[in-house]
Amino acid sequence: MSIKYIDTVELKGKRVFLRVDFNVPLDPEGNITDDTRIESVLPTIKYCLDQGAVLTIASHLGRPKGKVDKKLSLAPVARRLGELLEKEVGFLNDCLGPEVERTVSGLKPGEVALLENLRFHPGEEKNDPDFARSLAKVAELYVNDAFAVSHRAHASVAAIIRFIDECAAGLLMKEELDCFDQAMENPQRPMVTVIGGAKISGKLETLKNILKKVDKLIIGGGMAFTFLKAQDYQVGKSLVEEDLLKRASEIIGLSREKQIRLYLPVDCVIADRFSPDAESKVVPAQEIPEEWMGMDTGPATNLLFSEVMADARTIIWNGPMGVFEMEAFSKGTRSMASCLADSPAFTVVGGGDTIAAVRQEGKSAQISYISTGGGAFLELLEGKELPGIKALKEKTKGESF
Ligand code: AMP
Repeated sequence: MSIKYIDTVELKGKRVFLRVDFNVPLDPEGNITDDTRIESVLPTIKYCLDQGAVLTIASHLGRPKGKVDKKLSLAPVARRLGELLEKEVGFLNDCLGPEVERTVSGLKPGEVALLENLRFHPGEEKNDPDFARSLAKVAELYVNDAFAVSHRAHASVAAIIRFIDECAAGLLMKEELDCFDQAMENPQRPMVTVIGGAKISGKLETLKNILKKVDKLIIGGGMAFTFLKAQDYQVGKSLVEEDLLKRASEIIGLSREKQIRLYLPVDCVIADRFSPDAESKVVPAQEIPEEWMGMDTGPATNLLFSEVMADARTIIWNGPMGVFEMEAFSKGTRSMASCLADSPAFTVVGGGDTIAAVRQEGKSAQISYISTGGGAFLELLEGKELPGIKALKEKTKGESF
């Protein structure tokens, strides 16, 4: 059973409550420093307005912990949204209550208002049904276009669905789920997954689920050293999770059993300390001196990984190949970004650091799909069903009986 999307719903004259992710980065003066998150839901907003819906938009911003924090007001987002839409966007000082209900009921088809930060109320993060019921009062149709928040069972994503008769997902959600499905569930093969980042602990479930799907698995970043040590390599002071050595061996064994080709770094850029101006050199993965630590994949590894991906028809990438925040240790990650950008495969990238690395390299436009959801993307990779998606599916199922 799939979910219903807004392009199959009658919107004309309908009061729509649209949940989006406007959790944009702000500078200390409260200016928006990157409006990608606003841009990414413009297609849904424009579609609703063109179809003659009456639109009320809701989002969270930052972590105000259930209290009003004026520094985390969505007022600057309302202004920016108005500029992007070239249209007046009304801003409401709260997200519920009689005044909000009165203002929204005065809106006409094609008009739009943005509610104040949902997380100014503790009920949002608690998935409180009373809070959700109050939010629902302004709407006849609920639309979730906040993929990046759909892994959280929060009131505006989960509980609210019980209190609005008709529910659907937006166009960004459709794109996210379609691309993920194309990459992970119905991939063109060979399918290669590249996993990097600091630790295995955060990605164990991801690795286990991926082993059910991939043809080739590339492991880089800090987590590679636990895999190397599990094979008795000396890794010096590199990041190692001692308690996961056995799990790493199991993953290596499982990949052999399933005839999945697993690739680990064959050389590394090592440093004498964890610092941007540390002394560094390239060594084979077998020759990391005791007092040194692995900070990045080496040139032989970068070449090897590019050869592994040469015949790929699908590539999914999450997690940097090294400590890419430090220029001296960013080559592996940058090389990976270029490999994906130059590949004719269907390429999907997710996760904050990985996306930042692709942007830094100026390669975003050459990636088939960049997911807007960090945690949500990882949970999909883990094979989990996201609470927001599950709630929409159940609603769609209920409607079809
Ligand atoms: P994650 O959030 O697990 O994707 O990890 C991202 C972080 O992993 C980045 O901040 C990188 O600096 C870090 N990282 C990547 N490679 C290494 C490494 N070899 N040693 C330590 N940290 C690393």
